[in-house]
Amino acid sequence: MSFEERIEKLTQLIKESRKTVFFGGAGVSTESGIPDFRSKDGLYNVRDVQFEMYQPEYLLSIDCLEDRPEVFFEYYRQKLDTHGIEPNRAHYALAELEKKGLLAGIITQNIDGLHQRAGSVNVAEVHGSTLRNYCSSCGTKYPADYIFKSEGPIPRCKHCGGTVRPDVTLYGEMLPENELYKADKYVSGAELMIVGGTSLAVWPAAGYVARFRGRLVIINRDSTQYDSAADLVFHESIGEVLGSIII
Ligand SMILES: [Zn+2]
Repeated sequence: MSFEERIEKLTQLIKESRKTVFFGGAGVSTESGIPDFRSKDGLYNVRDVQFEMYQPEYLLSIDCLEDRPEVFFEYYRQKLDTHGIEPNRAHYALAELEKKGLLAGIITQNIDGLHQRAGSVNVAEVHGSTLRNYCSSCGTKYPADYIFKSEGPIPRCKHCGGTVRPDVTLYGEMLPENELYKADKYVSGAELMIVGGTSLAVWPAAGYVARFRGRLVIINRDSTQYDSAADLVFHESIGEVLGSIII
């Protein structure tokens, strides 16, 4: 099928579905210029001299935050600041679908908050968000840029002096229960799942797709192990695909 024919089929599937959910991976954000953690040119493969003695997984782990906080925050500030990064066509198209009542919710593995900035409301951030911060001792919440703008190696709580950390799931931590609960609500009873920007190689992405019994659409640059099980597959840019839907 040509690109236009597949877009037409995708539009039809969305119109016919009584409940649709979107599941998104790093590929949704890379088109905004945010590096993918796992891709060839991604974050994990860009080594800075001062971090070279550590594994990338360690630098974003709870162990690093607790044992070497100055290293953790230096890496975090250098790599995860999304200041100046804007949502792309994919984010805006999904927000538009939600406004029209055609999308029940978004489940995202990204931590950049770009879906909300594009106007989406129902978003389950299963790996947390860099836009939320809190004191690990007293729980006080801090604004989005608190860690990036804080002075000194470790951002401190104004009330108790504890470490202010991002509300992001670090290696060695459990996924946030309330976000997983939201995600289950979006998937439950859905007739159509659109999966975008993920190779579906790791949990929880693979789990959501493997358990899903409705119609499945996959949008990813590279092929995935679930392509043959999908009703429709796009290997084009996710911004181009979602941006081409006219309903
Ligand atoms: Zn505190």
